[in-house]
Amino acid sequence: MLLLVDLDGVLYRGRDPVPGIAAVLAERAAKGDDVVYVTNNSMHYRADYVERLQGMGAPAAADRIVSSSRATALHIAHHEPGLRRILAVGASGLRRELVDVGLEVLDAGERADALAAETAAASAADRQIDELEIVGRPDAVVVGLDQDVTYGKLAVAMIAVRGGARFIATNRDPALPTEHSYRPGAGSIVVAIETASGVTPLSIGKPAPAIMEEAASLVGADPADAIVIGDGLKTDVGGARAIGARSILMLTGVTSRAQVDGAPPGLRPDDVAADAAELAAILERYAAAT
Ligand SMILES: [Mg+2]
Repeated sequence: MLLLVDLDGVLYRGRDPVPGIAAVLAERAAKGDDVVYVTNNSMHYRADYVERLQGMGAPAAADRIVSSSRATALHIAHHEPGLRRILAVGASGLRRELVDVGLEVLDAGERADALAAETAAASAADRQIDELEIVGRPDAVVVGLDQDVTYGKLAVAMIAVRGGARFIATNRDPALPTEHSYRPGAGSIVVAIETASGVTPLSIGKPAPAIMEEAASLVGADPADAIVIGDGLKTDVGGARAIGARSILMLTGVTSRAQVDGAPPGLRPDDVAADAAELAAILERYAAAT
């Protein structure tokens, strides 16, 4: 079986491991199941997760960790070979994932600085400038969570998209859960550029099918055969539905049992697990049926 496993709210909550989940996954891997982690978090490089997951006892290798940034890079490499020069608004993990698949990455911060300098110089000399040229004429603008986002970065992204660059979002999560509350998520930045440019982006992260398809392709599996394990109704259950896969909703994260019971038909999981023991029993039942 292919298990597509969400991270935050399933394996851990913030800094704390969810008891027993890593051991359940290790046991499934020992029985021959493929475990691929799928997270909408766009900030980190895939190798950055390995030590932490292994430290918890979970089966982990860098190439089995698919963040929305990694999925975006893989999606471009597999499906959009014409996109070579990418203007990236996001964290270092996004830039590294794009470079890893052979793309040329233009840094939005550097381009914003160049645009500001050229604009000031042109105004002083009373001459025109080619803004798209200064922005670097990217083939695509990729936007993830950038905790150092500035008006200048939004401006160069807008100029590139209006100039014809493809607009791709790593994900559209409105908020990022933190230890104690929430902060703006990638979707908050995406929507600013969407509003400014008037162009709706292709979104890669959950609940879009692209991230699940790229994760399944890593092990050569049909996405519809996967089992999605996650704590989010819209993202994880919705993402499973988008690829025709089964889903197990974990009550270890952001969703309560009352919310599952009240979910619309399109967001009802196949099974619900309150803890690691219930997850293990459900997966054993699935395995016996195949
Ligand atoms: Mg989650």
